[in-house]
Amino acid sequence: MKKETHLKGISGSPGICIGRAYLVDHEGVDVVERYFIDPKDVQKEKNRFKHAVQRATEELKTIIKNISKVYFRHAQILETHVHLLRDKMLYEKTLSVIEKERVNAEWALKKVVSETQAGFKEMEDPYLRERAADIAHVGHRIMLNLVGANPVNLENIDKRVILVARELTPAETSQIQLEWIRGFVTDYGGAASHTSIIARSLQIPAVLGLENATATIKNEDILIVDGSDGLVILHPKQETLKVYKQKKDRYEARAAQLIRSSKAAAVTIDGHPVSVMGNIELPEEVVAVLDHGGEGIGLYRTEFQYLNRPDFPSEEELFEKYKDVVDVMGDRPITIRTLDINGEKAISSSRSEMEKNPALGLRAIRFCLEYPEVFKVQLRAILRVAKIGNVKILFPMISCMDELLAAKKLLKEAAQSLEKDGLPYDGNIPIGLLVEVPAAVTMADVLIREVDFFSFGTNDLIQYAFAIDRGNARVAHLYRPLHPVVIRMLKKAMDAVIQNGKKGIICGEMAGDPLHIPLLLGLGIDELSMNSQCIPLVKRMIQQVSLQESRAFVQSIRNETTAKGVRARVLERYGDVLKNGIMTEGLHGDPIPLKQAKEKR
Ligand code: PEP
Ligand code: MG
Repeated sequence: MKKETHLKGISGSPGICIGRAYLVDHEGVDVVERYFIDPKDVQKEKNRFKHAVQRATEELKTIIKNISKVYFRHAQILETHVHLLRDKMLYEKTLSVIEKERVNAEWALKKVVSETQAGFKEMEDPYLRERAADIAHVGHRIMLNLVGANPVNLENIDKRVILVARELTPAETSQIQLEWIRGFVTDYGGAASHTSIIARSLQIPAVLGLENATATIKNEDILIVDGSDGLVILHPKQETLKVYKQKKDRYEARAAQLIRSSKAAAVTIDGHPVSVMGNIELPEEVVAVLDHGGEGIGLYRTEFQYLNRPDFPSEEELFEKYKDVVDVMGDRPITIRTLDINGEKAISSSRSEMEKNPALGLRAIRFCLEYPEVFKVQLRAILRVAKIGNVKILFPMISCMDELLAAKKLLKEAAQSLEKDGLPYDGNIPIGLLVEVPAAVTMADVLIREVDFFSFGTNDLIQYAFAIDRGNARVAHLYRPLHPVVIRMLKKAMDAVIQNGKKGIICGEMAGDPLHIPLLLGLGIDELSMNSQCIPLVKRMIQQVSLQESRAFVQSIRNETTAKGVRARVLERYGDVLKNGIMTEGLHGDPIPLKQAKEKR
């Protein structure tokens, strides 16, 4: 009897699976020898490298062509790999190392790949750090072609297995017959790796970053993969198997129930439909929004394209990023928020000396108005993508009419410049104001006339209203979305929205908590946008409340003076709905009470 062993890794994708291991073996291209090339053969060696890149390109293109619809995410990733094959930092650099150092192509490639990877790995942004893996995948494919080894072929797996690999490349995972795979276990990779993104989008449990899984696990070994807890159990005992079978059943029943209800429209019991959307920071997150029942993108935070780089992105680059989202969303609505840098998200390409108080500094729209040449590049990209998608624009941190008018003027100028350049664009897109500075609430009745909708950024609105740093744990207890101050601010602004026949949206974290839903509906909010994981629960809550009653409820609490008082009233009236209809068992397997579930988020 082999000993039960617990291996702790990173949760790559939630869920539980039990089955036999299938080890993915990469043919040995690890040992690369260096040898020197005769000067007269340098060109021949360069050509050998070019041919290997050409063959790698053709292989990838064939995989992309044959990819099934289920893997459309892979196709996008592989397209980027095709581009990466010819990227200067890889292609040109390798050729130059062959020429300058007169070394064999394998050695030159290995050197360039490891140097480039090291550069990526040092980046602070975890997403960019993970992109080091893309360089490795692409380099590996060229290397296989250089040494004439066969790429791993997963097409022939014909029994239900758990894949155990050092790392799975997107090209490899795209060949897998989904019905044969129970789970993924890898030595490398983190929560933002492609294996993780893909496993989540395919809803296959995955534990990553185990470091020594391939060394410890043998083919056909029995495994339990608990993707929610990032745990792999090797050679489980009978009792352990029994516990995990029950856990798995509970998890699957719960997930199926939630996903089922998330596909249904969010309509209150008295027949009022509410739009529930997802917030994203990267185009890759769009799939998760759709999977969780999101009807569109209510907030596309665009600053990530500006971080961790020495320069500003080009119009073309931004256009492509926005188009990636449109390509998946089709004609569903997408609200693109213009650049919100500085504040807590410092920008490395910005010139400025450190600000003492960045949250109150040259942040978001203030930065954009100070640097119109940077802003206009983004405005042009947004207007161009609006021609092919259902796109709205949202200006963050507006605190007064002058800023709003200046932003609108620049948007108009961007449209005029596109007209002059003869590029297709849509100059009539809906304009929104992100209400996150209390000054905008005070002036809501006049500001609303200049825009099509208000979106409430409650994360910042609460920070600025109470003068509490949203990232400071010592004042976190003062961060209370149910405080009468917040409700009164929302009410004042929403009254202006309703009087002017416009729309009101919440896109701050407040929208993702089922506890807040009756209040928000009662205030007249038309749309809620949140982190995709919160969508199913919020939709379920909407389906169980009455709009009419929510309105009466908001009226009934108008004399409350404390957050505690409001919270008690909400729990008194809606506690049972929350307890019985929303959370009986957490998505993470074990029953978890409401409070903990919220903390997990
Ligand atoms: C907000 O402030 O509520 C918001 C949605 O914007 P961010 O969290 O990106 O500042
Ligand atoms: Mg904000």
